[in-house]
Amino acid sequence: MENKRLYSPSQVREVLDRHGFRFSKGLGQNFLIDGNIVRKIVRGAEITKEDYVLEIGPGMGTLTEELALKAKKVVAIEIDERLRPILSETLEPYDNVEVVYGDVLKLPLREIIEEKCDGQPVKVVANLPYYVTTPIIGKLIEEELPFESISVMVQKEVADRMVAKPHTKEYGSLTLFVGFYTEPQIMMKVPKTVFMPQPKIDSSVIKLKIRETLPDTNRDSYFKLVRAAFSKRRKTLINALSTYGLEADKEEIREALKRVNIEETVRGEDLEMDDYVRLARELPRL
Ligand code: SAM
Repeated sequence: MENKRLYSPSQVREVLDRHGFRFSKGLGQNFLIDGNIVRKIVRGAEITKEDYVLEIGPGMGTLTEELALKAKKVVAIEIDERLRPILSETLEPYDNVEVVYGDVLKLPLREIIEEKCDGQPVKVVANLPYYVTTPIIGKLIEEELPFESISVMVQKEVADRMVAKPHTKEYGSLTLFVGFYTEPQIMMKVPKTVFMPQPKIDSSVIKLKIRETLPDTNRDSYFKLVRAAFSKRRKTLINALSTYGLEADKEEIREALKRVNIEETVRGEDLEMDDYVRLARELPRL
């Protein structure tokens, strides 16, 4: 039984060769060939028979198959039409999987989810294509879709930036963007050897648990402040903010910093998310 599953390297090769499939580097096609990792991703995402799952980029269906076995229903979005005959074959035994062909960045996700997931909360699970990791995560989070969690394989360096702490070089706008909407946690590091073809860099699986309530602040100001603070990392906060072209002038910013007890000589990378949240509340018009 075990060696019939899609994730054995010989099985992947056999299916792809039989269909004359060539990997597209441009589409970030690095397929999983390790059963342990596939199972660990699905276990880490805590998928049960109650769950609706959205997968992005099913490839030849390796992770999809494990999801289909564990979830109530899987909706998978794949951009590469060449995978259509392969997925029809590999996912044929599973009647709880639906594949939608198109670019996840362009498709109307809300409508797809409403139509196919019975209005239930959805868990996202994916081995994301590297070339569009952050735009995809940005879209998934920002559109405030009915997601419970997002468990995804990304470049190790991107995962490290998402969970970074202040005073480190990894800490920045991505940390504060992801942290605003979610509680991120690295599930595991993944070596290059579990992919075909092997990428040049290591990966991590990160789980973003969607916050039930977002931080109480002015969201627009929060993101403008974060962008401004990190546009010039070496500058002091007051200088970075007052030269970025925000609506508020230097004096208004100085007063706001004083009200929330933040020293104006600190740098953006020294502030916690909560500091940005409090400061944005003081500067609702930026
Ligand atoms: N899930 C498979 C696995 O783990 O073996 C494949 C993962 S591979 C890293 C990424 C997949 O995403 C590929 O199948 C690729 O064709 C697909 N993809 C790339 N860009 C996409 C996009 N914009 N929208 C949807 N799918 C995309």
